Amino acid sequence: MKTRKAYLVENGHFEIRTEEIIPQREQVLVKVASCGLCNWELNHWKGRIGQNPQFLGHEAAGIVVELGENVTEFSVGDKVTGFMGGFSEYVAVPTWNVFKLAEHINPVYGFSEPLKCVVTVITSAKARVGDVAVIVGCGAMGLWCIQALKSDAMQTIIAVDIDDKRLALAKKYGAMHCINPSKVNTSESIAKITQGRMADFVIEGTGNGNVLSECINYVKHGRGKIIAMSSYERLPEKFNLTACVEKGIEIIFAHPSYSKNAYEDLRRAVNLINKGVFKIEELVTHKFSLDEINSAFQTLENKPDGYIKGIIIP
Ligand SMILES: [Zn+2]
Repeated sequence: MKTRKAYLVENGHFEIRTEEIIPQREQVLVKVASCGLCNWELNHWKGRIGQNPQFLGHEAAGIVVELGENVTEFSVGDKVTGFMGGFSEYVAVPTWNVFKLAEHINPVYGFSEPLKCVVTVITSAKARVGDVAVIVGCGAMGLWCIQALKSDAMQTIIAVDIDDKRLALAKKYGAMHCINPSKVNTSESIAKITQGRMADFVIEGTGNGNVLSECINYVKHGRGKIIAMSSYERLPEKFNLTACVEKGIEIIFAHPSYSKNAYEDLRRAVNLINKGVFKIEELVTHKFSLDEINSAFQTLENKPDGYIKGIIIP
């Protein structure tokens, strides 16, 4: 089988190469239905990590088209998702890296890796019944966190974003209060909603270190948690450590490395995709073909108004 595959050959430039691909004994050959564009990959794109030529893409889903010799637990035609790269028409993946998508799921909207990260983030929050949760930044990750947290047993879920359209989505997915910091004072608004007690935990997903620093004002006194889930390209200009100490704040960098068991988080995420808890299709705003991968990354770098999640459809 031949596959067309995108390689990052120099900073800011992908090249499509054609390669032979054969599944090894424990692998399945998957026809990639889609692969999500991840902000983290901008680090590769800009030359901060990795060495060119590099093969990127880790948010894929697709359909099994061929089985390795020893594979018994999958069949040709199975829809699968999991730890699989990437920006290629076909990929060969070890069976332990993938889970089956339900029959009714369109694999174009069945990528799971970012949802696995959402499970890691929510697990790190150790949410309890009656908690006040604040989600700062309602991009795809923030909105998926709201979908995962949605429960009548939360005291409230508060969404914070400077874009009213994103706040409308947050409300649709389960946020009970919406705050636009360009219009009102965020900590005063949270104080009003919580009678001054503030949040049990804040999930920060804007990627802006200054906003992360602001979150110190949003959490309660005594083990309030700030869960930092971005990659923070923008470092904070100042960070009020004194306030962190005074309030006894826990700051958790809930990145993949934080997960105790990434496979377990992935398994949970795929179950919630199959159950329809995570709405993926509704958040995909930009689609690109494999040949458009360079403009896809330019779009990811300079997100246009209305951008939530972009995907490559090889
Ligand atoms: Zn990702």
